[in-house]
Amino acid sequence: MKRIVCPPLAALLFALLLLLCSCAKDEPLPECVMSAERVVYGNRIYSVQSVEGKGVFLTYTEIGDEEQTVYVGCVDPLCSHDKNECAAFSNAPGSRIALVPQKKGFILYFFRTENFLRNPDDPSRGYGRRSDLLAMDMKTGKCSVVTSIPDMAGGLSYLLTDTHVYFTLNSLNMGIESDVQSVNIWRAPLTGGELEQCTFGEDAMTDGYRIEHYEDGVFYYRRGETLCRTDDEFASEEIVMERLNNLWSITIRDGWVYYTDEREVVSVAPDEPKPENYAHVYDYMIGEYPEALDAANICTLKRTKVDGSGTTEALTSGISTRADWCIVGSTLYCVPARFELRGSIEWSAPASPNSLSYIWSETGGDLWATDLETGKTRAVFSDLGYDIQSITDAGNGRLLVSGKVYGIDDIKRHIEAEEIWSSELRYTVWKLLDVE
Ligand SMILES: [Zn+2]
Repeated sequence: MKRIVCPPLAALLFALLLLLCSCAKDEPLPECVMSAERVVYGNRIYSVQSVEGKGVFLTYTEIGDEEQTVYVGCVDPLCSHDKNECAAFSNAPGSRIALVPQKKGFILYFFRTENFLRNPDDPSRGYGRRSDLLAMDMKTGKCSVVTSIPDMAGGLSYLLTDTHVYFTLNSLNMGIESDVQSVNIWRAPLTGGELEQCTFGEDAMTDGYRIEHYEDGVFYYRRGETLCRTDDEFASEEIVMERLNNLWSITIRDGWVYYTDEREVVSVAPDEPKPENYAHVYDYMIGEYPEALDAANICTLKRTKVDGSGTTEALTSGISTRADWCIVGSTLYCVPARFELRGSIEWSAPASPNSLSYIWSETGGDLWATDLETGKTRAVFSDLGYDIQSITDAGNGRLLVSGKVYGIDDIKRHIEAEEIWSSELRYTVWKLLDVE
């Protein structure tokens, strides 16, 4: 028997399908990643850093490249990456970048700065720094200037919403006459146009402002050592938390402020017994062996409700962690600060015979996941072989983790030259982990 679909129903289904497709397109893509220092796009880690002999550029390194080669993040095959012509030239080391999905693909925002003498007749006024926020189309590599900020303060930290870029400006640098310098939040439309002042604090020492987060029509910002929230127009101010001076890594998510509360630096020294393969390295190191191989930050993670009630909870059951952590969806990822050594302090040959020859590890690559709804903590990975030093949300249910590993050839060279073995002999390696 033939299946019959009456034409109006087919048309209706078709229209419904079209509607569904267009709705899906308008929804934010899950790959949207913002980061203070770096973002992941495909197999590349983008950041703003210096390229040897050339200057500071938007750059990328390939995940898994043990040599950590730094490439200029410009896709023009004919470009010689001369700083005056290259689209990826930045001159703003360490500045934030942001990767934002748009209908036609991804846009990567980064800053380019230019120093200028504030007053050619009065050099005592020093240099200013003009900053252009650039938008790079990740498909074509074409760059356009979103907005120009005359003299930016606050280490080029900024926040993007659908319509504006928010940042911090120093009144003195803006040429505003005043006895005290003030640092306030300003904004510029992403479509170009005039800068607007959002906050009006008068003294940078007591109430300097810094934008922190935007969620569901609410802005979060710091005023001095106080975390506040306000509406889209900065019309009211509610205090969320005070005395922020002893808290780190403040992250606001779903009605909570997450932060590192206590932090203590401890030295970590390898302990007896040493596994057999350790002897390879130890032969080279007799008489040169440093007391501590590593210094670790031991932290307590907490969260406090944003409603001003002061409700505070300890995370990871109050057990200490390493310094770096991140939240993906409703899960917090962190590295436990455990020093029982798991029997895995060892020098072990990695899979690749290249520059990274031996690895010393305290945790063997432990990673914890805490479910923020149930409070339960579970182990996620324990087989990386090296300690995880940093954790970043890389989008699509992935984490970008970094670790430090030692290069045996460099250790040999330094010891033969009778130099003390230092942490500079360690390399950073990056890895993407699927966690969902
Ligand atoms: Zn170039």
